[in-house]
Amino acid sequence: MIRIAIIGGGISGLAAAFTLEDHRRTGAAEYTLYESSPRLGGVLRTEHVDGCIVEAGPDSFITEKPWAADLCRTLGIGDQLIGSNDADRKTYILVRGQLIPLPDGLMFLVPTKILPTGFSPLFSWSTKLRIAQELLHPPRAAQADESVASLIERHYGSEMVDRLADPLLSGIYGGDAASLSVRAVLPRFAEMERTHGSLGRAMLAARKKMPPTANKTAAPLFTSLKNGMQQLIETLVPRLNASSLVTNTSAQSIHLEAGGWTVAAGLESDHFDALILALPTHAAAHLLATASPELSAELAAIGYSSSITVGLGYDRGVRRSLPPGFGFLVPRSEGKRLLAATFVHNKFPHRAPEDRALLRCFFAGSNAENIWQLSDDAIIAIVRNELQQILGLHAAPLFARVYKWKSAMAQYGVGHLERLDRIERIRQQLPKLALAGNGYRGIGIPDCIRSAQEAAKQVLNPGSERRHPSTLSS
Ligand SMILES: Cc1cc2nc3c(=O)[nH]c(=O)nc-3n(C[C@H](O)[C@H](O)[C@H](O)COP(=O)(O)OP(=O)(O)OC[C@H]3O[C@@H](n4cnc5c(N)ncnc54)[C@H](O)[C@@H]3O)c2cc1C
Repeated sequence: MIRIAIIGGGISGLAAAFTLEDHRRTGAAEYTLYESSPRLGGVLRTEHVDGCIVEAGPDSFITEKPWAADLCRTLGIGDQLIGSNDADRKTYILVRGQLIPLPDGLMFLVPTKILPTGFSPLFSWSTKLRIAQELLHPPRAAQADESVASLIERHYGSEMVDRLADPLLSGIYGGDAASLSVRAVLPRFAEMERTHGSLGRAMLAARKKMPPTANKTAAPLFTSLKNGMQQLIETLVPRLNASSLVTNTSAQSIHLEAGGWTVAAGLESDHFDALILALPTHAAAHLLATASPELSAELAAIGYSSSITVGLGYDRGVRRSLPPGFGFLVPRSEGKRLLAATFVHNKFPHRAPEDRALLRCFFAGSNAENIWQLSDDAIIAIVRNELQQILGLHAAPLFARVYKWKSAMAQYGVGHLERLDRIERIRQQLPKLALAGNGYRGIGIPDCIRSAQEAAKQVLNPGSERRHPSTLSS
């Protein structure tokens, strides 16, 4: 029987434990999961306030990546999955104080429809000219990795970085386009540049290949759970062996010993044959500092950003007064602290009663760090002031909740994939060690679950690792 330690009780650690459960029941494996906080789930946390479902961390996952929905189905809550109300999807960008809708035909960052782009006040005439010229961009041989900002600027100019690339990516990674790696975050774009040259032409070619009914039958862009993301944790935890879950207990150190790993956690130490670190990479680096300084240094070099989400509930009057759509993004050049706000009651069904509006506001990176020390009341005052400026929203919220997430979102910097190769080489030289979480090949929940399932398989059958797909974007 193999004894396995899992460190970290977020969705990654729990998904790894669930993958090991069958082996535990047959007696082939035994695991202990250590979680430093009193609750399991990590950043997946939902509160029910005044009839509203308030997400403290993630509010959904991208439907295209199957691993999270598949896990829900395996757990028997497939009927609880809900899709985003894509018929009402409309996202605004704040430009000189005005909310401008994203034009129709935008495929992620790439404009593909002439008329909506031509008439959109989102872009200046010089950017519109760049968009037209971009269609003539010649193919470019594969080059060294670069930042997303650098690739987009080369194709469309700096306004496109400021008004689209940066706000869209900040909403996902909490970082900025100038430091995120194209190869790790938008591998398709690097490939499209190599094969087609023009991103616009590549997107048009991809669209032509889609069946004509694709738009009508398309799955919703985002998936969530009726009772919120914590429903996944509440369903998953009872399916694990209760005595294998050790909460309120931080792993303080790990040591290589007798071909395995000794974990010191709380007041005790225990020896294991294998170790799964299901942690942000900075926490994994800290634990590995003695056992493998080389691996620790590589893990520590992966950046993380902090974020703050604020959930605000309003009455029926506010719900009627808000613009239609999913919410808005704020480019850095607007000089605001808010990065984004979601009109949650529009984005998903079951999130707020008909007579309530639910807003979710988001700060990340230096904007979050700069207000970190402030009280919840002071942060709520900042949010209200900015919502007043942006939406003309003067009403006092019926409730407000502030959630802070320290260094929780990984930033895949330029050269990230090369770093992962080095990490993999070092990892394979160590006794049964597997790494799971958002620091590696996808920051979203589906990728974390996939990484955890692979980690569990790795420690059960070393050498079973498959090559990773190159699509990383969450
Ligand atoms: C605000 C926010 C919004 C997001 N929105 C989305 C979204 O909409 N869709 C999406 O797909 N993804 C989203 N993400 C990303 C996604 O939620 C995370 O990447 C994912 O949940 C990370 O899970 P994890 O288990 O790897 O890490 P975590 O959830 O960070 O869990 C790690 C756990 O390890 C524990 N721990 C740390 N050190 C130790 C130690 N020494 N000993 C024991 N335990 C330890 C921590 O307490 C924590 O519980 C969001 C993330 C944040 C922060």
